[in-house]
Amino acid sequence: MRYTEEMQNDTIFGKIIRGEIPATKVYEDDQFLAFLDINPVTKGHTLLMPKEHFVWVQDVPDELLGSIFIKAKSLIESLKKATSCDLVEVVIQGKDVPHFHIHLIPGFINHQNAVWEHVSYSEGEKEFLAEKIKSAL
Ligand code: 5GP
Repeated sequence: MRYTEEMQNDTIFGKIIRGEIPATKVYEDDQFLAFLDINPVTKGHTLLMPKEHFVWVQDVPDELLGSIFIKAKSLIESLKKATSCDLVEVVIQGKDVPHFHIHLIPGFINHQNAVWEHVSYSEGEKEFLAEKIKSAL
């Protein structure tokens, strides 16, 4: 599925940012908002986003992207203190909501949170793909 223009322009996160629907906020300033995910992978699962609307990480201006990761660092420290987790998984997925956001998911060593499916390469496929990626850089 591809996001339609309408979906991109009017997202559920835009509504939360504008205060039209509620969210359990954990951080807010002029540029950024962070709130708890409605369907958490672990307790404390937080979504951090710029208030300005961008769909994909590659759309976000460099300076803003730098600033959001600096903000993510402090939220990670808060999450570690608040949940006593061992680590915080930092995930950019973007499959559901077309407003750029970073997932901060409290994690525990020896506890697999997410189910990652794995694939295998056929003979030579890995090298072929690596060359294709390099030549597209
Ligand atoms: P992604 O777009 O990164 O694949 O996932 C979007 C995330 O947003 C999901 O983890 C989903 O649970 C969360 N989410 C979707 N709608 C809402 C909502 O209305 N409120 C909150 N707090 N989280 C939401």
